[in-house]
Amino acid sequence: MSTKNNGTERLSGEKLRKYILINVYNYLKEADITTIEFEGPEIAIYVRKPAFIVSNMNKIKELAKILKKRVVVRTDPDSRKSQEETKRFILENADPEAGIEPSFIEFDEVLGEVIVRAEKPGKAAGKGRKFLNKVLAETGWRMVVYRKPPLISNTLNSILSHMLKASHERRKALRDIGERIFRETLRGTDRIRIIGLGSFGEVGRSAILVDTGESRVLLDAGVNPGGAGFDAFPRLDVPEFQLEDLDAIVVSHAHLDHVGLLPLLYKYGYRGPVYTTKPTRDIMVLVQKDFIELSKREGEEPLYNLRDIGTMLTRTITVDYETVTDVAPDTKLTFYNAGHILGSALVHLHIGQGLYNVLYTGDLKFYKIKGDKATRLLPPAAHEFPRVEALIMESTYGATEQQPREKAEEELIRIIQATVERGGKVLIPVMAVGRGQEILVVLNQAMKNKLLSEVPVYVDGMVYEVTAIYTNYPELLTPSIKNMILHQGENPFMNENTFYIHHRQDREAVMQGDHAAVILATSGMLTGGPSVEYLKALASEERNALVFVSYQAAGTLGREIRDGKRSFSFFEDGKIKNVNIKMQVHEVDGFSGHASQSELRMYYRFVNPKPRTIILNHGEPTAISTLRSLLERDSKKMEEKGIIQRSPEIYTPSNLDLVRLL
Ligand SMILES: [Zn+2]
Ligand SMILES: [Zn+2]
Repeated sequence: MSTKNNGTERLSGEKLRKYILINVYNYLKEADITTIEFEGPEIAIYVRKPAFIVSNMNKIKELAKILKKRVVVRTDPDSRKSQEETKRFILENADPEAGIEPSFIEFDEVLGEVIVRAEKPGKAAGKGRKFLNKVLAETGWRMVVYRKPPLISNTLNSILSHMLKASHERRKALRDIGERIFRETLRGTDRIRIIGLGSFGEVGRSAILVDTGESRVLLDAGVNPGGAGFDAFPRLDVPEFQLEDLDAIVVSHAHLDHVGLLPLLYKYGYRGPVYTTKPTRDIMVLVQKDFIELSKREGEEPLYNLRDIGTMLTRTITVDYETVTDVAPDTKLTFYNAGHILGSALVHLHIGQGLYNVLYTGDLKFYKIKGDKATRLLPPAAHEFPRVEALIMESTYGATEQQPREKAEEELIRIIQATVERGGKVLIPVMAVGRGQEILVVLNQAMKNKLLSEVPVYVDGMVYEVTAIYTNYPELLTPSIKNMILHQGENPFMNENTFYIHHRQDREAVMQGDHAAVILATSGMLTGGPSVEYLKALASEERNALVFVSYQAAGTLGREIRDGKRSFSFFEDGKIKNVNIKMQVHEVDGFSGHASQSELRMYYRFVNPKPRTIILNHGEPTAISTLRSLLERDSKKMEEKGIIQRSPEIYTPSNLDLVRLL
């Protein structure tokens, strides 16, 4: 068997296994190999001589290239020094400028990893990973460095401790997942069908099944937060959807309408993998836990419990942007930045060794960067791909234009300034994930640039936890924000005027205080949570202001007030209380994390190469039909100009419809 270049593309099952074994022994025999096993989509090689690995890193790179798989080398437990010795070695020999926390050094005995947290992870790893290699060679432990985030997140801590506790179970689960990915192919790819289980002709309960004959991949598993009864869940009752046939679930981003249902699938017995980006994993766990709490507060039985979230987490495989990963014998997955919220991804599936490519946008934000004035947190969605035959695209604002971002910021600052000058408080209901962080950055920058008087900004609700997660991934934020965090030691989400509210007493003090203030609080549509508490306290005073900065769904208190209702009632101490709204009510559009109508059209103009087929989802029927005719018109023009040869086929399916791509 040749070891060059014909690669593993067409090998499966036993033949693939043999090919891997021969090559691993060829390259790394002298490292004293004890075990070779699948670790999900990667190949894990356990060895007794880590020093050999350290001085032959190029061999591992070559091996990975030949196998066309990611390779991770781990050490056999016999070859590792004790935890005490290792800890001492690290603390004595690390660059003192790295700022390694002595109290945070954790060991994963199963995988042979020592996890440290450092203020400067680059310095901790050493130039060209020099120190990591030194630790491996000297102690037999693979050192993994986490950044010490500027804000401490309970979510991140609990995820890490879960991973350490579940390490043994995870290794076994990943082995099973790997066996399935690299199994003997049976039918081969004999079709490509897209089946809409949710989010077709609506916003909410996103779930799309991609069936290739050989494999089945589910894209997203969301709930419909506004839906009641069965309308709250995707249609998992179709015959094509069988949990045991599912090869993988791929998650685009961590909003509830994309991840809310996921733990329920584990409750019902799914034991396969979930693929996401790292930040999506972190935020997803937070919003799912919050979803459980929300159900409890409303006196409902939660759909799933913490154990189900744990089962999911143990099988969650994180993948960086633009890294190709096998998820089934005939399917490769690549994530690209989607610009919507931290960690949000466009999902690219390469199916059947060059046969077909599907791009699913999830929720996306696209805009043109004007000079370096972009103050947004995230860069716009990627639009260049190796190949795209079919594009499944969101259509939330297909029928609505938004004012430009600069205008939106000006308007918001004007309203706040006027309120502050008359001594009032501004209440901005925000979604915990995405909008909360955007608005915080806008306010902090406006104060820094003297466009807004210095005024305390109180942040209440889950926003804190999500913000803490944002600060953990500065490399994914726009260059200016990243620069602030990494090089200027500044926190864009926090300055001397920002106060995070963690206790009820503090909230009451804010309500009763007689100074001007800005309050950012969840929920974003006034459906419960601290924002409603503040509203009750602030509504009856004319000098105060309520500002909506995000979409208000039908049926919510936020929507009613936005549409003109000026009183509301609630239950307290066994009595119905009525409040007249005398505070000013404003709506500022332009802060959305979704592409506006013109941005969606621009995305189609920019996406390269051009798809032959477009499927529109994630939009109300009018949004979808409007976008469809606009895209038809745009592509006709492009066809006339010779930019494309043929206009794409545009589908606007309903849930349960099946689109045959091949
Ligand atoms: Zn979203
Ligand atoms: Zn969505």
